[in-house]
This record gives sequence, structure tokens and C-alpha cells, in this order.
Amino acid sequence: MPTILIANRGEIAVRIIRACAQHGHTSVAVYADQDFEAMHTRLADEAHALPGTSAAETYLSIDALLAAARASGADAVHPGYGFLSENAQFAAAVEDAGLIWIGPTADTITALGDKVTARQLAEKVGAPLAPGIDRPLRDAAEVEEFAAEHGLPIIIKAAHGGGGRGMKIVRDLAEVTGSFDSATREAVEAFGRPECFVEKYLEQPRHVEVQIVGDGRGKAVAVGDRDCSAQRRNQKLIEEAPAPNLSPEQRRRLHRAAEDICAEVAYRGAGTVEFLLAADGTMTFLEVNTRLQVEHPVTEMVSGVDLVGEQFRIAFEGRLSLDATPEPRGHAIELRINAEDPGRGFLPTPGRIDALDVPGGPGVRWDSGVRAGDTVQPAFDSLFAKLIVHGPDRPSAIARTVTAARELHVAGPTTVLPCSLEILTDPAFTGEALGIHTQWIETELMPRFSAQSRPAPIGEASLRRFPIELEGRRSQIGLPAELFALLGAAGTGSASSGSAGSGSAGVGEGSGEGGASDGAAVGAPVPGSLVDYLVEDGAEVSEGEDIAVLSAMKMETKVAAHRAGTLRHVAAVGDMVSVGETIARIG
Ligand code: ADP
Repeated sequence: MPTILIANRGEIAVRIIRACAQHGHTSVAVYADQDFEAMHTRLADEAHALPGTSAAETYLSIDALLAAARASGADAVHPGYGFLSENAQFAAAVEDAGLIWIGPTADTITALGDKVTARQLAEKVGAPLAPGIDRPLRDAAEVEEFAAEHGLPIIIKAAHGGGGRGMKIVRDLAEVTGSFDSATREAVEAFGRPECFVEKYLEQPRHVEVQIVGDGRGKAVAVGDRDCSAQRRNQKLIEEAPAPNLSPEQRRRLHRAAEDICAEVAYRGAGTVEFLLAADGTMTFLEVNTRLQVEHPVTEMVSGVDLVGEQFRIAFEGRLSLDATPEPRGHAIELRINAEDPGRGFLPTPGRIDALDVPGGPGVRWDSGVRAGDTVQPAFDSLFAKLIVHGPDRPSAIARTVTAARELHVAGPTTVLPCSLEILTDPAFTGEALGIHTQWIETELMPRFSAQSRPAPIGEASLRRFPIELEGRRSQIGLPAELFALLGAAGTGSASSGSAGSGSAGVGEGSGEGGASDGAAVGAPVPGSLVDYLVEDGAEVSEGEDIAVLSAMKMETKVAAHRAGTLRHVAAVGDMVSVGETIARIG
């Protein structure tokens, strides 16, 4: 039976570890320093260190992951979602190392990861496609010509974009040049590639997608469809299966297009083909995600197909367990449980989970990466769990989800739950004529929220490593940093900076909200790294002016001056800061 290294963390690593156990495979977890005691690290049969605290040093480090694979004797690598799951270079490196990559080939990832070549493929197989320019844009003039021919609004997108970033909507011809320039700039900054393309922007569309499994030899089967229209910042918050209110013809068309696109590239493994559906019935292909999706459980609940099990079957036996799309049974809804505050524009709110009461009852599934006492880490994604609920039909699935969401209690970080409950009980969501579209949360719902209280600052939860000699061989021992707090101050200095290799350089100033007591201090609104100061040290600032940018959980947050005066920098660019920690003073 194969040994599978899971190149991921959090709830998806836990999901895959459970699947390994159920299928008799050995699971190998990997962990960053702060995940030393995380749920996925504890649940796996074995766990290997990825020394470091940042994503780049750990779950994004191909070298570190391959070293862990070698050390554990793994036969295969499952990438989960996010991190390196859609990285063709990683897929190729895994296969070059003689291991099985649980996913599509590097060539497929490359072809479909580029939205321009993916659009060309969709066009070739006759998938529904809104007008667009299916090659990288040369200049803004091309965009102007396109707008003149097809009308506004249009959307300029990064060919290699993802995560809802690198997109510019253009509603006015005068904005074309500026939008083209900033889209190109952002594409380079975020994805390291400048290529952008343009397509027609659909107003208030629904997001509908099709789950696919392919055997790698040209057979691709649609497992079912999902609706993921409840989004904020073009990122999904609630998903459901099957997608409600599709006509049989629309459903057939979407499934067929998804199967044809995947068959054309002899797709191997699980993947998702995404579409938009406008109110007037216009459909357009959006992209293919060449991995397991966050929302895969809703399809599992209505189709009865274990998608991770299916991935194993394809990877190890080269075959599918199904020949045709199963008839969906009932309805399933997933709530993403993110540590974010809807009342502060979905600001990330990582922190320690002091208590966690998990719901139960018929049809309730809880996929979590944390237990009570764990910390939602600021260096990684804000999603820490998912609540998935099944019912015999959509109204009963909604009713069960509301009951379960009200039972769920998370003490510590604020979560998106109040927002999810608003959505679940709003007539636009519950009504026969589904009134939800991809901009609905931001335009209709956000104004209803007020800020929640902030979680307590996170203490430094990390590992300290010391060299030791074991049976005559030099080795290393890692001890939880908390231990030193318990033992007193002894050993805090040299061990952490000397051999720990820890990436979290503390600012050294007093942390917590107390820092702001003299009125001059500017406290960090989120824990994260200081990306840049927007104003020079010693310059005059006015109240409300943006003075710094922090990055937490893959999201950038601007910090504004709370009063006018002379700005003094207190931290250094790149520093990790906790909530309330002073990053500047305005005197
Ligand atoms: P990403 O890879 O960053 O997720 P996508 O191309 O999948 O980018 O688009 C993400 C979201 O952006 C969609 O779900 C939708 O809300 C919005 N979007 C993208 N393209 C269009 C379009 N042509 N018209 C309207 N909305 C769009």
C-alpha cells in the first residue's frame, strides 16, 4: 500500500489524511514550525518538519517538500488545494523524483493554468464563451478596439491570475489605458507574469461549476455541478450542490462542455471547470482548476462519490469508478468558516481558538483543521474549517444549515458566521427565484454588518531548535517555544536567533492594544508582515492618509493615520507584527 505525502496543512490535509486511513494508505504530514502541534501534524501516521515559519520557506518550498518525501520514503504526493497544487514545476519535480503525483500532468497544469490557452481550448471544443481576445494583449489600443466592437463593460484579467486577484473591470472608455497598465503591473507583482487578456464583463452573473474526474486517457466524467455565487472579493463563501434553477438544457450544456474540455487534454484526476451564468441566460467558460476544490464535499454529499478516494484510484490504478454522471441525491450546502470580520470589510482576524462547539445532527459534516486550543495562524489562509450540511431537498438543506450554524460556537477569532447566517436567511438566497449573484454580498449585504470585537494578540507560537548529539551523531531537537515561557526568561534569546532559523523577527516593542495609550502610536490592525511604509520617516501626514501596508493571510491591508502630525517609522519593512503592536508614531 502506498505512502502518501500531503504537501499541505489545515482542513484539507486532515481531509486527505482521513482518506488515506480509510483506504489503507500511510499518510505523511509536513509542518511549518507553528504547525508543530496542528491537527494535521498529529493525525498523520508520520510528520516531517519543513523548517521555517513563512509559506515560502515551508509549504511553498519544492526543495523542502521533496526532502521530506525522500526522508519519509513516500511513494506519492497529494498537493491538496492552494500552495503548490497548481504548480506545474512541482508536479514535474515530483514525477522526476520517481514519485506519483496525485493530479494532472505538468503539461495539463501549464495549458489550463494559462487562462488564455484555456479559453482557446474551450473555443475549440465549442464550450459557451463570451466574446474575448484569446491571446495576450499587446497594448491598450487593442482593448479600446474590443470595447468599440463589443461594448462596455469589459474585464481585463491576468492570464496567470488566481484567487480573485489581477482583474480590472472597465465601465468607461476613458479608463481603458489606466486599467490596462495597472492590470499588467499587478499581474507582474502578484503572479510574476505580465500577460493579460480581455473579455466581456457579465453583469451580476451566477458562478456555476462542474466537478470532473478524468482517467488520463481521454475519458472524463462530470460528477455534478455546484453554485458558488455567494462571494466576497471574487472569492467564494458559500457553495451548494446541485446548482439550483438550471434548466435541463443548461445543465446538459455545462456538463458536456466541461467533459469535452477535459477529454481534449486527456485530463487525469479531479478538476473543476468554472462558468458564469448571466441573468439573461448567457453562459461563459471561466477557467479550469486543476486540483481538488475547497467546495468538493458538497458534490460528495449529493453524488455519493468520495472524490479523494477517486483521486487515489486514478493515481494508483489508472481508472475511474464511474462511467456516467450520478443522479444527485438531495441537496448540500457548505459554509466556509473563515477567521475574518465581515464588519471590517472581511479583515483577517487570526487568533487562538479558546473554545469550539461543533454542531451535529442528521446530514452534518464538519471538516476542520483546528480543535479548541489551536491557533488560526496569521501566516496562512483564513479558512480554518468547513461546515457541510445535506438535506433531502434545498429548503431542508438550508434549514439544517441554519440550525447547525447557530449551534457552531467559536470563541477567540471572529468569523464570517454572522454573514453566512444573513445570507442563508435572506429571501434572495432562500427564494424560488435565486437572487444571488457574485457581487451580491458586497452590494446588498455588507452594509448590514458592524465590526465585531478583535481577537487577543497571538503569542509567539513556534519551535526553538537546538543541536544535540544522539548516539554519536549530530542531530537536532525542536522544543515548543511556549516551554521557555513556562520556564522563565532563560534561553529565549540565543536559541531562537541562533539555531532556530525562525523567520518571525519580533519588533521588540510592547505588543497589545496598550501601545496606543499615549495617543501617538499607530497600532497594527491585523497581525502580519509590514509590506511597506507609504510615507517617508519624518514626513507630515494628514488624518486618514494611508501610511503603511500590512499583509496577512494573503490579503493586503492599508493602515491609515488616526491623526495629523509628523510620522515616525517604528518597525522595519518585512517585520512580523501582532495586533495592536506599534508600527509608527504620529507626533
Ligand atoms: P480566479 O482565477 O482569480 O478565481 P476567475 O477568472 O475564476 O479568477 O474569476 C473569479 C471571479 O471573478 C468569478 O467568479 C466572477 O465573480 C468574477 N469574474 C471573472 N470574469 C468575469 C466576467 N467576464 N464577468 C463577470 N464577472 C467575472
